[in-house]
Amino acid sequence: MKRDILIVGAGPSGLAALKALKQHNQTKSWKLVVAEQRYGIGGVWLPSSLTPIPPDLPSSPIYDSLTTNLPHPVMAFYSHPFPRATPLFPGHPVVLKYLQAFAERFALLSHIRFGHKVVGAEWDPRVQKWRTRFCTRKRNTPEMADASEHERAANASEEMYDAILVCSGHYHYPKTPDWPGVNEWTLHGRTLMHACYYRRPQPFRNKVVLIVGAGPSGRDLSNEIASVARQVYHSVPWAWHPARSATPIVHTTSSGIALKPPIRRFHSNAIEFEDGTQLTDVDIVIAATGYFYRYPFLPSNILYDPSQSPTAPSSASLFCDGSHVEPLYQHMFPITPTSPAAPNLIFFGLPSKVVPFPLFEIQALVATNLLLGKKQLPPFDAFQDIPHSHNLPNEKQFAYCNSLAEWGGVRDWQVKDWVVEMYAKKDILRKTWQEVERRGEQHLQEWIGGVEGENEWVNVMRRLIALGEEQASQG
Ligand SMILES: Cc1cc2nc3c(=O)[nH]c(=O)nc-3n(C[C@H](O)[C@H](O)[C@H](O)COP(=O)(O)OP(=O)(O)OC[C@H]3O[C@@H](n4cnc5c(N)ncnc54)[C@H](O)[C@@H]3O)c2cc1C
Repeated sequence: MKRDILIVGAGPSGLAALKALKQHNQTKSWKLVVAEQRYGIGGVWLPSSLTPIPPDLPSSPIYDSLTTNLPHPVMAFYSHPFPRATPLFPGHPVVLKYLQAFAERFALLSHIRFGHKVVGAEWDPRVQKWRTRFCTRKRNTPEMADASEHERAANASEEMYDAILVCSGHYHYPKTPDWPGVNEWTLHGRTLMHACYYRRPQPFRNKVVLIVGAGPSGRDLSNEIASVARQVYHSVPWAWHPARSATPIVHTTSSGIALKPPIRRFHSNAIEFEDGTQLTDVDIVIAATGYFYRYPFLPSNILYDPSQSPTAPSSASLFCDGSHVEPLYQHMFPITPTSPAAPNLIFFGLPSKVVPFPLFEIQALVATNLLLGKKQLPPFDAFQDIPHSHNLPNEKQFAYCNSLAEWGGVRDWQVKDWVVEMYAKKDILRKTWQEVERRGEQHLQEWIGGVEGENEWVNVMRRLIALGEEQASQG
């Protein structure tokens, strides 16, 4: 049966979805369209052509110096390794080239409509299809990451699809805590910005900067800005615990970064922390505090997001409060009393704290099986407790991938043991690798020159871990 499928977004998850669908021998007659609002594939990995002024949002939060936080043999799609002798934690341009090579190798580009933003999708029960609206933009006009209502009305076109695969990512809408008193603090010529606007350290020269957030971006920005700033403070949850100590703990790292506990509130001239201490010298606060999940193209009767529409619809299939979408089976498939056994709306890439690319691949294979009718969703009554959070740290993500593959009828799929092993050691691997890079090109080539294939890379990583652990034990 011919089916028309719309994939929203040509980032890594959209590319994985398209590849799995296209490669199946029973989808030859299907119409597979990817709508991508930008002029390029890669999603987060395609840097913004310009960094807008808030409240406009950048198309990608990537900063100049960003290197991957996973070793590339772990990060890569299972079906497509990084090229020979790629640095173990490559810079973002290498990842973009890798994704472009993936798209070319599997002939994906001809399916992608660039400059096409999906701005609406209504389910039409009479024809059992999605009435989908696009807003288009010419190449070389400013990126319209967030088209205004005016833009939408001005040039929206309409098309019908049988199913929509939502591959629009969840690193776009910045989340900044609503700290009490912050507006008074910024009145005095001080700045609060989200990490999505950060590109390079130079503007922070001789400033006093507080970075909030313990994730990879918070760590990267603290280290990088510390090389030019007068002082960097880094606010992290583990710098203080109310049960452990009433007296403040002051940690200073080897690069001179002073660790601070979470912020309690702002005063007009000071920032107060959970341990009661205050800082009065901070010029700029950078919130590396994450992003909201948002789907502005889905109407509130399909997905109700209280931050987007003040009045709740009488009934909505899905709920999204910015932190998760519910109720979804396997973090992908809406399950409601009326949702069909064959899904027509599928979410990709929602799990966080994971190794994303291989996870997208398994999601894509399972989604393909469901769209082909080889597998059906269990009946609504079968569901009791669906987990809400999409956080799948450490072993949970691998258990998810394995059980998704098994349930979804994907044969011969199992997360490899060495992936689990290397993921657990990714931080020491990255630290040791950075030291190798600092020692220069020749030293680097001694480690990775000519290295090719899974086994050789696993050997390199094991040797690096051994070196890192030996150095750590020597203090
Ligand atoms: C700072 C940072 C560092 C990261 N580092 C790593 C790392 O080292 N390793 C790793 O594996 N992962 C990393 N990630 C995670 C990264 O998000 C994933 O690697 C991956 O990019 C997610 O792919 P995606 O396709 O789901 O989403 P995205 O990459 O966000 O792509 C979504 C695409 O959808 C398009 N889109 C959105 N809405 C619409 C619409 N309405 N109409 C049309 N198009 C639309 C967007 O333009 C975009 O191209 C990092 C993320 C960030 C933010």
